[in-house]
Amino acid sequence: MLKYYSLNNPLHVVDFREATINGQAPDKGLYFPTILPSQKVVVSQLQQLSKEEVAFEVIKPYVADTITDSELQQIVSETVNFDIPLVPIHEGISSLELFHGPTLAFKDVGARFMSRCLGKFVQNNSRKITVLVATSGDTGGAVANGFYDVDGVDVVILYPSGKVSNVQEKQLTTLGKNITALEVNGSFDDCQQMVKDAFLDQDLKQKYFLTSANSINVARWLPQQFYYFFALQQWQHEQAPIISVPCGNFGNICAGVLAHVTGLPVKHFIAACNANDVIPKYLETGIFESKASVSTMSNAMDVAYPSNFVRIMQLFRQKLPLLKHSISSVSITDEKTKEALLTVLNNHQYLCDPHGAVAYKALELYLNANKADKGFILETAHPIKFYDVVEPIISQKIEWPKAVQDIMDKPKESVLIEKTGFKSYLMDRSK
Ligand SMILES: *Cc1c(COP(=O)(O)O)cnc(C)c1O
Repeated sequence: MLKYYSLNNPLHVVDFREATINGQAPDKGLYFPTILPSQKVVVSQLQQLSKEEVAFEVIKPYVADTITDSELQQIVSETVNFDIPLVPIHEGISSLELFHGPTLAFKDVGARFMSRCLGKFVQNNSRKITVLVATSGDTGGAVANGFYDVDGVDVVILYPSGKVSNVQEKQLTTLGKNITALEVNGSFDDCQQMVKDAFLDQDLKQKYFLTSANSINVARWLPQQFYYFFALQQWQHEQAPIISVPCGNFGNICAGVLAHVTGLPVKHFIAACNANDVIPKYLETGIFESKASVSTMSNAMDVAYPSNFVRIMQLFRQKLPLLKHSISSVSITDEKTKEALLTVLNNHQYLCDPHGAVAYKALELYLNANKADKGFILETAHPIKFYDVVEPIISQKIEWPKAVQDIMDKPKESVLIEKTGFKSYLMDRSK
């Protein structure tokens, strides 16, 4: 039966339930499946199966016997209950739109799946589980929304006051119920430190059953495979696609690569990065040179050290030449990103967000050198989420989707706290 081991210690083995609750192995290693289950049967039936059926079949071996089939069916149907269309931009390039979920970004899929699994796992616990999340914007919204109204789970989100966009702040602060937003008088790094300190605090450990909703959690990572299968259901060409993924922590592309090595036909992956180019440089030179992250217009990808890259290496048995056969990586400047965003709009009447534009440019470069190939990008967010960046580039207003408009009209509810006030806030809290 499939279990999970720590990439730091193959002898530390847990089941899906424990891996989901722990997030990370106690030795700080990432969890990795002990078996890579073949998806050949699902692939052969793609045209006959519904989205829900595909998702169920793909994830079932990973969940093993920790969730019953009927519960898993319920969870996956709630995870993928929005459109995930593959939209042609032109003959050679399509866009897999992952932004039709509640917070208009692909992280909705992983967050919705994880929250429901965690809800199941704590169902018969006498104690509620409390999820602590520090967010610089996007993750918090998806997590908050994913966990909203899930029984037995409380969520406390910390975000830096004045440093998230309007839309993001509303997504964090308008839910209520089991979601509490703390507006921290400090930076994102401060928020992260506060969460780390809380996990180490004995008094808080006594009072709360604490966990995180980190993006390395297997319950967030694995369901991201779903939409690669959905894309292939909609793929109209003879040849397998080139897939270009805008990358930050490399969790999204890592799920695609997992789908591929277990049977999904993909000709090649492109890991599209912004100026944060540690991985493109590594693939080029074989030298891993870590450096500080730099700010770009595709800020969800401003990651210095991509935490999921070790999992990708493991999928290729730590062999770089093997990895390079399946994945290319390229760094796209803000200048080129802006240019691509504007050109795609003018020539093809398709509006990318900055992250999708990075992926588009990277794919275009690849296809220029490989003229017989065709491919698609993962469009990871709706352009409205980055309207402050996008509108000046295109010199026009973006129409607000209804979901955003509704949120913008709701009153913000947050608790303003100082960096030093987190513990006393949690200790005094009645929940
Ligand atoms: C999180 C995020 C990414 C990066 O995804 P990773 O899985 O961290 O590589 C790309 N685009 C958007 C819009 C995001 O929110």
